[in-house]
Amino acid sequence: MAEIAPTPATIEINDGVFCTHFKEVCAECEFDGREENDAFYGFEFIDREGIEAPAGIVNKDGVYQCKKHSNAACTQCYGWKKQITRARAVAKKAGKK
Ligand SMILES: [Zn+2]
Ligand SMILES: [Zn+2]
Repeated sequence: MAEIAPTPATIEINDGVFCTHFKEVCAECEFDGREENDAFYGFEFIDREGIEAPAGIVNKDGVYQCKKHSNAACTQCYGWKKQITRARAVAKKAGKK
Protein backbone atom coordinates (compact mmCIF):
# COMPACT_ATOMS: atom_id res chain seq x y z
CA MET A 1 0.00 0.00 0.00
CA ALA A 2 1.53 3.23 -1.11
CA GLU A 3 -1.01 5.46 0.49
CA ILE A 4 -0.62 6.27 4.10
CA ALA A 5 -3.82 5.47 5.93
CA PRO A 6 -4.66 7.57 8.93
CA THR A 7 -3.78 5.72 12.07
CA PRO A 8 -6.97 4.59 13.77
CA ALA A 9 -7.45 5.48 17.36
CA THR A 10 -6.46 2.59 19.53
CA ILE A 11 -6.63 1.85 23.18
CA GLU A 12 -4.54 -0.43 25.28
CA ILE A 13 -6.14 -2.74 27.79
CA ASN A 14 -3.90 -4.92 29.91
CA ASP A 15 -1.21 -4.78 27.17
CA GLY A 16 -3.69 -5.72 24.45
CA VAL A 17 -4.33 -3.35 21.58
CA PHE A 18 -7.91 -2.62 20.59
CA CYS A 19 -9.80 0.01 18.70
CA THR A 20 -12.01 2.39 20.57
CA HIS A 21 -14.90 -0.05 20.10
CA PHE A 22 -13.05 -2.61 22.24
CA LYS A 23 -12.44 -4.75 19.18
CA GLU A 24 -9.23 -6.34 18.03
CA VAL A 25 -10.50 -6.45 14.48
CA CYS A 26 -12.87 -3.69 13.47
CA ALA A 27 -14.32 -3.06 10.04
CA GLU A 28 -15.52 0.34 11.08
CA CYS A 29 -12.05 1.55 12.03
CA GLU A 30 -10.32 -0.66 9.46
CA PHE A 31 -8.25 -1.74 12.38
CA ASP A 32 -6.56 -5.07 12.87
CA GLY A 33 -4.52 -5.51 16.01
CA ARG A 34 -4.13 -9.25 15.78
CA GLU A 35 -0.59 -9.21 14.52
CA GLU A 36 0.53 -6.82 17.20
CA ASN A 37 -1.19 -8.71 19.97
CA ASP A 38 0.11 -12.03 18.71
CA ALA A 39 3.63 -10.66 18.59
CA PHE A 40 3.30 -9.35 22.12
CA TYR A 41 2.64 -12.84 23.42
CA GLY A 42 5.30 -14.38 21.21
CA PHE A 43 2.89 -15.98 18.77
CA GLU A 44 3.39 -16.15 15.06
CA PHE A 45 0.53 -14.43 13.32
CA ILE A 46 -2.17 -16.63 11.82
CA ASP A 47 -5.56 -15.68 10.42
CA ARG A 48 -7.71 -16.12 13.47
CA GLU A 49 -10.85 -14.59 14.85
CA GLY A 50 -10.28 -11.28 16.49
CA ILE A 51 -10.89 -11.10 20.19
CA GLU A 52 -13.12 -8.58 21.83
CA ALA A 53 -12.63 -6.78 25.08
CA PRO A 54 -15.50 -6.63 27.54
CA ALA A 55 -16.60 -3.08 28.14
CA GLY A 56 -14.24 -1.28 30.44
CA ILE A 57 -14.04 2.01 32.17
CA VAL A 58 -11.10 4.33 32.48
CA ASN A 59 -9.93 4.68 36.03
CA LYS A 60 -8.43 7.79 37.55
CA ASP A 61 -4.99 6.86 36.26
CA GLY A 62 -6.29 6.76 32.71
CA VAL A 63 -6.06 2.99 32.58
CA TYR A 64 -8.86 0.77 31.33
CA GLN A 65 -10.23 -1.63 33.86
CA CYS A 66 -13.04 -4.14 33.57
CA LYS A 67 -16.47 -3.12 34.75
CA LYS A 68 -17.11 -6.38 36.50
CA HIS A 69 -14.11 -6.55 38.79
CA SER A 70 -12.62 -3.06 38.53
CA ASN A 71 -9.32 -4.63 37.67
CA ALA A 72 -6.98 -3.30 34.98
CA ALA A 73 -5.15 -6.60 34.79
CA CYS A 74 -8.16 -8.85 35.20
CA THR A 75 -7.28 -12.37 34.17
CA GLN A 76 -10.93 -13.26 33.71
CA CYS A 77 -11.96 -10.36 31.50
CA TYR A 78 -8.61 -9.35 30.09
CA GLY A 79 -6.81 -12.65 29.87
CA TRP A 80 -5.79 -12.10 26.28
CA LYS A 81 -3.19 -14.81 26.10
CA LYS A 82 -5.77 -17.41 26.95
CA GLN A 83 -8.28 -15.97 24.52
CA ILE A 84 -5.76 -15.66 21.72
CA THR A 85 -4.56 -19.19 22.33
CA ARG A 86 -8.14 -20.38 22.05
CA ALA A 87 -8.78 -18.37 18.88
CA ARG A 88 -5.61 -19.76 17.35
CA ALA A 89 -6.64 -23.31 18.16
CA VAL A 90 -10.02 -22.73 16.52
CA ALA A 91 -8.39 -21.22 13.45
CA LYS A 92 -5.96 -24.09 13.14
CA LYS A 93 -8.72 -26.63 13.48
CA ALA A 94 -10.70 -24.84 10.78
CA GLY A 95 -7.66 -25.21 8.54
CA LYS A 96 -7.17 -21.53 7.99
CA LYS A 97 -3.85 -20.44 6.65
ZN1 LIG B 1 -13.56 0.14 15.88
ZN1 LIG C 1 -12.82 -8.60 35.31
